Amino acid sequence: MIEKLEPDLDFKRRIIGLDARDLSYCYQCGTCSAVCPVSSEENPFPRKEMIWVQWGLKERALSNSSIWLCHQCGTCSAYCPRDAKPANVMAALRDYSITHYATPRFFGVALSHPKYLPLLFALPVAILLAILAGLGNLGGLPEGRIVFAKLFPDFYVEALFDIAVGLAVLGALAGGARYWSAMRGARADGGGSFWTALAQVIREILDHGQFKRCIDEPVGSRPTHQTHLYKTHLAVFYGFLGLVATTASVGVGIHFFDYLTPWPLWHPVKILGNVSGTALVVGLAVFFWHRIGEQARAGKSTYADWLFLIILALAVFTGFACESLRLADLAALAYPTYFVHLTLVFFLLVYLPYSKFGHLVYRTTAMLYARSQLNARGLVADASDLAK
Ligand code: SF4
Ligand code: SF4
Repeated sequence: MIEKLEPDLDFKRRIIGLDARDLSYCYQCGTCSAVCPVSSEENPFPRKEMIWVQWGLKERALSNSSIWLCHQCGTCSAYCPRDAKPANVMAALRDYSITHYATPRFFGVALSHPKYLPLLFALPVAILLAILAGLGNLGGLPEGRIVFAKLFPDFYVEALFDIAVGLAVLGALAGGARYWSAMRGARADGGGSFWTALAQVIREILDHGQFKRCIDEPVGSRPTHQTHLYKTHLAVFYGFLGLVATTASVGVGIHFFDYLTPWPLWHPVKILGNVSGTALVVGLAVFFWHRIGEQARAGKSTYADWLFLIILALAVFTGFACESLRLADLAALAYPTYFVHLTLVFFLLVYLPYSKFGHLVYRTTAMLYARSQLNARGLVADASDLAK
C-alpha cells in the first residue's frame, strides 16, 4: 500500500526556529545513527528524524519514542560530517513535543514564550496574596522569633502544594497518555506487560545506565559536550528526589505527629534537605557552566531550557536563603524571601508537565513504551537496548 505523505512545512520552520537551523545540511549519511550510544539497528536515530523534519513529517517525528530516548549527549553532532547538529534537532523536537502534547494546550504554549511569563507568575502570586489577605497578614510582618508558619500557616502551604501537585499529575497523565496513544498508533505491533516494563524502567531511571553509555563505550576520540552528563544529571535527579522526600516528611511530621516547623538543623530530615539542596546546586552549576562556557559543544539552549534551569536554581537558592535569613534573625528579608520561594516552588510544580520539567513525563513514557515493545519481542536485555 502506498502511504500518502502530508508535509507540514510550518512544523519544519518551528523546529528550525528552536535553534536547529543547520538541519538542512544533512545529506543522510547515517553517521549520527551509527555513533549514537543509545541508538540501535531496529530503531536507528537521529538520521531518520533529520529527514522527517526536513520533509515536514510532523506526526512521524512526534510519535516516535526516539526523541525522548535521546539524552542529548552530543556524540552525533560531534561526528556529523556536515555539522548539521542532529543533537540540536532532537532537542528541538523534544521542546516542540512538550507543547504539542500539553493538555490544556495553552500552558504548553505559555511556557514556551517569554511574553506569557508575567501571566504565569501572576497566578501563584495572586493566590499567595489572597491567602495573606484572608489571614489578615498583608498589613505587616509577624513579630517575634522568625517562624514562617506565622506568615503562611502550614495547613495553607500544604493545601496549596497538594493542589499544585494534583493539577500537575492530571496534566502529566493527559500529556503522557496522548504521547503513548500517538506511539501506539504509529506501530502495528503490540507491547508486552506494562507492569513488567514499569519495574524495569524505574530501575533504569534510578541507575541512570543510559547516561553512562557514551562514557563506558565511547565511539571514538572526539570530545562530546556531555561526558559530564551522567554525574551531573545524577546529582540533580537525586537532589530533587531528596527535596521531595524532605517536603513529604515535613508534611507527615506536621499532620500526623504535630511536629511543627521550624525543625532543628541536626534533624535527619533537615540534613537530608540541606544535602539534597547542595547536590542540586552543584549539578545546576555544572549545567550552567556547560551551557554558558562551552556553548559551541553544548549545543542549543532555548528559552525553555533557560527558564527551567533558572527557576529551579532560584527555588533552591531562595530555600537556602530562607534558612540563612531565619537563623540570622533578619525578619524584613526572611519573610519576603519566603514569599518568593513559595512562588517559585508553586511555579515549578503546577507547570511541571508543560515546562522542561515535562521530560520527567515524556522521557519516562518513551522508555516505558520502548521497554514494553522490547519485552513483547522477547528481546530482554539491558537498558542500552531501549531504543530497539
Ligand atoms: S545529521 Fe549529519 S551524520 Fe546524521 S545523517 Fe545527516 S549528515 Fe549524516
Ligand atoms: S545526542 Fe546522543 S543520544 Fe541523542 S541522538 Fe545524538 S548521539 Fe544519540
